[in-house]
Amino acid sequence: MAAQGRCTVIVGCQWGDEGKGKIVDVLTEGVDIVARYQGGANAGHTVHVGEDEFVLHQIPSGILHDGKRCLLGNGVVLDIQQFFEEYDALVARGIDLRGRVGVSERAQLLLPYHRLLDKAVEDTAVQKIGTTGRGIGPAYEDKAGRRGVRVVDLGNREQLEKRVRIAQERVCRRLEQLGVATTEELDTAMAEALGLGDRLLALATDVGRNITSALLDGKRVLLEGAQGTALDLDHGTYPFVTSSNTTAAAAATGTGIGPTSIDTVIGVAKAYTTRVGEGPFPTAFDPKMDERIRTLGGEFGATTGRPRRCGWFDSVLARFAAQVNGLTGLAVTKLDVLDTLHELQLATGYRMPDGTVIDGFPADTWSLSRVVPVYETLPGWEEPTGEVRKLESLPANARAYLDRIAELANAPVRWVSVGSKRSQIIEVA
Ligand code: GDP
Repeated sequence: MAAQGRCTVIVGCQWGDEGKGKIVDVLTEGVDIVARYQGGANAGHTVHVGEDEFVLHQIPSGILHDGKRCLLGNGVVLDIQQFFEEYDALVARGIDLRGRVGVSERAQLLLPYHRLLDKAVEDTAVQKIGTTGRGIGPAYEDKAGRRGVRVVDLGNREQLEKRVRIAQERVCRRLEQLGVATTEELDTAMAEALGLGDRLLALATDVGRNITSALLDGKRVLLEGAQGTALDLDHGTYPFVTSSNTTAAAAATGTGIGPTSIDTVIGVAKAYTTRVGEGPFPTAFDPKMDERIRTLGGEFGATTGRPRRCGWFDSVLARFAAQVNGLTGLAVTKLDVLDTLHELQLATGYRMPDGTVIDGFPADTWSLSRVVPVYETLPGWEEPTGEVRKLESLPANARAYLDRIAELANAPVRWVSVGSKRSQIIEVA
């Protein structure tokens, strides 16, 4: 199944975990290169190939397709140990990676001290963000603070040692302030991480140039986002967000191509909504329904195993995602999870504490935690959809539900996923 367009971005429309991995996996068949442009090992994509399950955190899930080239752009923070753990695990399972993986010379390294600091800060915080404790936030802080270490630095030992020493000493001082003791373990982990430097350097490349020349040669490219729109550092539910821009424009800055190279942006949205971690979630279900959908949808984090909060489809958020990302289409996933419901609700707007109804996504996270969604009720279809492969073959009520989502979100539905397998997908003509 070919991706629409020559250069396609896949973004999450909600709070992440929308099933982007599955959509990327399906669309990869029609492209030559798949690249990640932001985030770190906090993004957990789960992909099912036959009976096998693969959980990928750093390497694009396109790697599961023979011959595709997979790149990590400058916008990612690269955890060397995690990266090679994943790399070696793929090789051990028989995936041929030779000449297929490249990392940007400009990508930031996520080093063991970042993980230590992330955990210490979250453990001692008064207002927890709900981070995955993988060091992503501190690594991006170092990037913005211009004290980060980049892949290219691994080629200059003297410079590298100096930069690492400065950054590590700073982290240790902060840990001391937080009352957390640093241990010898950190030195061991640092030696292990930096010991992998030459191996990583061998994969280093100019990602922007690679992609640009591939596009000029008529090849097709997929740029794979991690997390979701509501977790974007600027546009999400700040401060309960991730430390990078997750939205489509970041696909250009995070790989080193111009924004005009991108011609298609597909937003992935679950047929309902989930949220992991802290922060407001307007359409959250009542506890009984929450439990039911969590079980039916297997809503537990791929990276942390944390149970996800579940709720009704939120069109306010989807509409916002369509605007911020300039969506050319939607991929609606996990429709099958709703198969047994008698009735469904769609949030069309939010009632503010003063009684006014808004249809835009508020910047004020505090207000968002106090809004009451305005719901529209639609009949359920109460039929299994997992075997359906054509839009016309979906139950009429399921089609009506999808039509209403497209109308409210202001974006056409291009794909509908009805199960976790690669084959369980409907392409809308
Ligand atoms: P991502 O980070 O956005 O890729 O999301 P996850 O890795 O958390 O993926 C969501 C989970 O849902 C994975 O276990 C997928 O195999 C599964 N999944 C994806 N699409 C569907 C679908 O249409 N139906 C069902 N039942 N499961 C799906």
